Amino acid sequence: MTTSPIYHRRRSCRLCESTQIDCVFEFEPSALAEWYYPPERADEAADVFPMDLFLCRSCGHVQLLDVIDPVRLFSCYQYTSASSPGLEAHFERYAKQVVEKLSLPAGSLVLDVGSNDGTLLRQFAGHGMRVVGIDPATDLARTATTAGIPTLNAFMDAPTARRVVEEYGPVKVCTANNVFAHNDALGNMAAAIGSLLADNGVFVFEVSYLLDTVQGLVFDFVYHEHLCYHSVKPMDAFLRRHGMHLVDVERVPSKGGSIRGFAQKIGGPRPVSPRVAELIAVEEAAGLYDPSTYKAFRSRVDGLRDQTVHFLNQARATGATIAGYGASATVTTLMHHFKMGKLIDFLVDDNPLRHGTVSPGYRVPVYHPDTLYSKRPEIVIILAWRFAPTIMQNHARFQQEGGTFVVPVPSFQKSQRRLAA
Ligand SMILES: [Zn+2]
Repeated sequence: MTTSPIYHRRRSCRLCESTQIDCVFEFEPSALAEWYYPPERADEAADVFPMDLFLCRSCGHVQLLDVIDPVRLFSCYQYTSASSPGLEAHFERYAKQVVEKLSLPAGSLVLDVGSNDGTLLRQFAGHGMRVVGIDPATDLARTATTAGIPTLNAFMDAPTARRVVEEYGPVKVCTANNVFAHNDALGNMAAAIGSLLADNGVFVFEVSYLLDTVQGLVFDFVYHEHLCYHSVKPMDAFLRRHGMHLVDVERVPSKGGSIRGFAQKIGGPRPVSPRVAELIAVEEAAGLYDPSTYKAFRSRVDGLRDQTVHFLNQARATGATIAGYGASATVTTLMHHFKMGKLIDFLVDDNPLRHGTVSPGYRVPVYHPDTLYSKRPEIVIILAWRFAPTIMQNHARFQQEGGTFVVPVPSFQKSQRRLAA
């Protein structure tokens, strides 16, 4: 394990600053999840860092305390919204829903925090809204501005908030998608957002939902970029400390289960939907603030790990070649937590940006999916398990030619040969 200065461990809860925080799920130390590099740069992605989940005894927030320096962490990002299939359609529905739900008159000012290439704001502009983006990535901010979406190249903090209000006026809708899970200084960000909202303004955020993570066994969504695992009760208390409160919250299917929250300034005009209290009751009934829930979660994951590794070791002993399907951030966590990187000969992925790279930490080479038919591995373990049905459908030929698919999560499954399509 490295003691490199690029990371530090927090001592207090990211939402309420309490130091009464307990480790509830020790992960195996993991390499940085998105650092798929060409082989000649693989050394840069070799280090592993601790990655444990903590539960705050005071407010119930679940979080990582091991923080990688964000400048280093996000330096490798090649990701843009428009290059991500499905995201554009998601944002189209998102903008339409927000405009209708909040009855936004044309000309209202919409601000997106972490606006990337402006894909979401372009949808709001299409509804006649004035738009402005904020993104710390210089290239993205410049490209978006050139393409007609004015974008400030900055982090969302107090000076940026002042600048927005001075240049554009108070904000009617401030959106933030996933940035609310990826930022260590969440308090500063929330205070800045509260300060730029109009008195009848609404803060809309989307984050993956802890309840879905636990119930869907989506433990591989835990990686260093993803610092917060939000639930409704701690989030509402946090927003109240920063002068806002939830008025509604909806469950949405993105990223294995997310919530879309709507907050206003305390004293704002909108009534609180009964859904807020209802979801908090569901969270309490599911034991989301109780350490024993994570103990049970951990033992389910351990069971799957033991089955998977046992199977792969046996297959190896017979001389089988084993490929993995998927080369994403979740795959990095899964391979490290199951300690199975050395049992996998190569990975394939549909994303062309990943071809010719090696995986973080274990340095497993990543190829085009056609490689399944040239290298002919006996076994393909579907590491991108949430997409297993689609992958098996797209590669029915692999099974028809005698290959075996293995799906490790949410229950260990092995395909029968010539499974019905
Ligand atoms: Zn807390």
